[in-house]
Amino acid sequence: MADKKKRLTTASGMPVDNDQQTLTAGPRGPALMQDVHLMEKLAHFNRERIPERVVHAKGTGAHGVFECTADMSQYTRARFLSQAGKKTEVFVRFSTVGGEKGSADAARDPRGFAVKFYTEEGNYDMTGNNTPVFFIRDPLKFPDFIHTQKRNPATNAPDPDMFWDFLSLTPESIHQVTILFSDRGTPRSYRHMNGYSSHTFKWTNAKGEYVWVQYHFKTEQGIQNLTREEASSLAGEDPDHATKDLHNAIAKGEFPSWRVCVQIMPAKDAKTYRWNIFDITKVWPHKDYPLVDIGRMTLNRNVANYFAEVEQAAFSPGNFVPGIGPSPDKMLQARIISYHDAHLYRLGSNYQLLPINAPRACTASNYQRDGTMRLDDNSGGGPNYWPNSMGGPGPDLAFAEPPIDLEGQAARHPQEVTDDDFVQAGELFRHVMSDTDREHLVGNIVAHLGKAQERIQLRQAALFFKADPDYGRRVAKGLGLDVKEVERLAAMSQEDRVKATSA
Ligand code: NDP
Repeated sequence: MADKKKRLTTASGMPVDNDQQTLTAGPRGPALMQDVHLMEKLAHFNRERIPERVVHAKGTGAHGVFECTADMSQYTRARFLSQAGKKTEVFVRFSTVGGEKGSADAARDPRGFAVKFYTEEGNYDMTGNNTPVFFIRDPLKFPDFIHTQKRNPATNAPDPDMFWDFLSLTPESIHQVTILFSDRGTPRSYRHMNGYSSHTFKWTNAKGEYVWVQYHFKTEQGIQNLTREEASSLAGEDPDHATKDLHNAIAKGEFPSWRVCVQIMPAKDAKTYRWNIFDITKVWPHKDYPLVDIGRMTLNRNVANYFAEVEQAAFSPGNFVPGIGPSPDKMLQARIISYHDAHLYRLGSNYQLLPINAPRACTASNYQRDGTMRLDDNSGGGPNYWPNSMGGPGPDLAFAEPPIDLEGQAARHPQEVTDDDFVQAGELFRHVMSDTDREHLVGNIVAHLGKAQERIQLRQAALFFKADPDYGRRVAKGLGLDVKEVERLAAMSQEDRVKATSA
């Protein structure tokens, strides 16, 4: 006998008498429409899926804590960074990028690394990746780029021609492509990888002075990656391996943790620095701006319900707190709009009221009202306009961001690819990678690029050559290409190279 307190009911609360036999006219049917329990059960089932994220669809997450380990108030007035020992609840979502919700965790792909800090001044979201750079630096290219990483419109299968055609026509991607095709493109698990903000952000202190920062989350489990062979067998045999790994580690009490650091650049350096710090295809070399420890993040609690806490989690690079603001990075500016917009589509106009997304250490208070699925009291009988003289919440000038100088003409400014765009990829190949890393990098590229048309292989191999001649030669040899032809293409302008390799 079912416990009376746990009685099965319809969604409106009516007790259900039978959950195994449909109401029918006679034992052989037909079914009767008045079986409201059956109708409701089937109708709700038909609506279980919400739109899948176009990117970062496959992911997992966990709850945890960020502990500030150094008072950062000389740089930022963000309160959660104001005192060593101060703890802030976090929720973290890890993901792959290109694959669908059921795709393999072991895919070669950047990994999303999104952190929601539930601070007393509102939720602060750090929506990073496990790579410090990105493929493109202009948001107008983003939908095209993602299309090329997904499925061919005719065959509905991933297409190496699309993948490499776009990248070889987008040479600013070379740095990220080099990281992606190193073994860091297939991390052993979500616990064994770093996270990076990739973008530059602005930190402002109580005096209104600002600096530029980039965030680094360094895994305390150590970097561990899969080889190409391990990744492809795991993708087939255990497609959810990283999802299970995170859950099992936390369930066993082996809480994964990350050292949280920033690179800090005085505002005055930005204009004259060797690199454009608002170009997401570049890093700030550590010798120029060393890592400064600001805290430690530990994940210590699994979600109780995947859909409620992970699928409905909504991060936005536009969720700032006082003392942390955006930089002019064009990609960041577009993401600020785009993430919020995606959640409005995916979860509805009141997605920020969902428990996983709502502030926890403070209360949201504004004049947004109504909309689909308003879950709370909709601010009851309080005023729904500003200004009002009814005691409603009002803005506070004390939280204004200081002005920053901007200059220039409104135009579609070309951001031409120059030789500078190949320097950091070359540095990585020559100085950071070990012999084994280089060998695996070349092998990983050859295995993937080898499936594209030869003219595309030639164009892309020339880009590797421009990053480093040895890199280019080794890829060319691995692909069985004419190395002299690759060198000749590498010496051309991108425009001529494209002409020489067009269909
Ligand atoms: P450093 O020697 O000071 O730092 C090298 C960085 O590279 C470390 O953060 C290290 O991360 C990371 N790294 C090691 N192996 C790989 C790999 N196979 N793929 C990607 N990253 C790796 O050098 P610089 O700061 O002068 O940077 C040199 C190059 O290192 C850059 O051009 C960039 O490609 C890469 N890099 C730089 C970062 C930065 O913020 N400066 C961040 C990440 C990469 P870890 O210590 O965790 O192993």
